[in-house]
Amino acid sequence: MAELGPSPLVSGRELPVDAARDAIARALQPLPPTPDNVLVLPLAQALGRVLAASITSPIDVPAHDNSAMDGYAFHGADLQAGGPTSLEPLDATVYAGAPFDGEVARGRCVRIMTGAVMPAGLDTVAPIELCQVEGGRVTIAAGALRAGENRRRRGEDLARGGVALPAGRVLRPADLGLAASLGLEQLPVMRRLRVALFSTGDEIAVPGQPQAPGQVYDSNRFALMGALQRLGAEVIDLGLVRDDPAALRAAVDRATAEADAVVTSGGVSMGDADYTRELLAERGEIGFWKVAMRPGRPFAFGPLQGAGGRAAWLFALPGNPVAALVTFYVFAREGLLRLAGATDAPPTRLLARSAVAIRKRPGRTEYQRAIVERGAGGALQVRSSGSQGAGVLRSMTEANALLVLPHDRGSVEAGELVEVWPFDGLV
Ligand code: AMP
Ligand code: MG
Repeated sequence: MAELGPSPLVSGRELPVDAARDAIARALQPLPPTPDNVLVLPLAQALGRVLAASITSPIDVPAHDNSAMDGYAFHGADLQAGGPTSLEPLDATVYAGAPFDGEVARGRCVRIMTGAVMPAGLDTVAPIELCQVEGGRVTIAAGALRAGENRRRRGEDLARGGVALPAGRVLRPADLGLAASLGLEQLPVMRRLRVALFSTGDEIAVPGQPQAPGQVYDSNRFALMGALQRLGAEVIDLGLVRDDPAALRAAVDRATAEADAVVTSGGVSMGDADYTRELLAERGEIGFWKVAMRPGRPFAFGPLQGAGGRAAWLFALPGNPVAALVTFYVFAREGLLRLAGATDAPPTRLLARSAVAIRKRPGRTEYQRAIVERGAGGALQVRSSGSQGAGVLRSMTEANALLVLPHDRGSVEAGELVEVWPFDGLV
């Protein structure tokens, strides 16, 4: 983190969000696809996993020219230019999975079902609803069809040897279907990222325990655990760590021994206890950043060295529950996906019209909890989901998106387009 200069917390300088994101992206390299990091999983268990190697197709898909419709297959050259086309049907039907090895002469046609292999020489299918079958003839109305229509070509979806799925793909349902369509039953995937998680703070109480005066329950650990699980990480839950050097040292040692990354919230990030900052500073090149954003200013990132010599990437998030989640989505999500070997990490970004005016000054990025929906006329519209206090989780649960106002942007007028990150695909 040397290129960032002195710790902004110390210098008082605020770091733009993009600079912080870039620094994280530069620092993190994907786990290499070595035997230690790769496993082969049956398709049924591969959803959401990161593909470890590109998959090339061993076959043409589809493997044969075939019919896209139920109807009659014939020679496209028989279509009449000026009037209806009349064909004489064979007394046969070609079904999917049962290729027809007879010959279909010019002027003749054969009944064919969707997916059936096109008989030799035929290139066109008239869908049944376009055919009039009467008096031993099949008639197709003038201009209803062009030669070559309704035939799927061999290799049209994917040619043999072509890249079917790129390495780094986070496998989605269609990807599993595509792999199966190639005859594959398993895929090489990256192992799950191991992420240690703990909360810090003497004022934090564990849910299920009584709440002493002045205490707040540890909500961050459960919200962040969910966020990490959605990313496909294996979470090592280290619980709640007191603001105490020995406890913190023990947690750091365990996290660095077992995990690829460590996510913490509260205390550590703020460095509100000096020994915390000291411990982290002596355990690696941790950057303590005051990021120009709201919510979520204090944030620390860097390689954390364990007593055993093993390092893990630290993402120390602010304690305020919404700030913790927002900084997770803005900084940790992409970083962790990248570490896990995923290549398609950016969140979905849409534009929507702001329902109301929003006051903002240039010089920091703002993330509002928001509801995006179809407004009058069907276009996307976005509005706040309630109080934007950094600790107010309720407006986060009622939101379905983050409304993002970039660093240089000033106030927004009602009706102006603003950037929106829908939670679907993000969280
Ligand atoms: P800090 O970053 O430690 O200064 O914490 C900022 C605010 O977030 C304080 O009000 C803390 O009580 C609260 N906070 C810190 N950690 C948690 C947590 N794990 N769950 C809920 N609130 C927290
Ligand atoms: Mg604290």
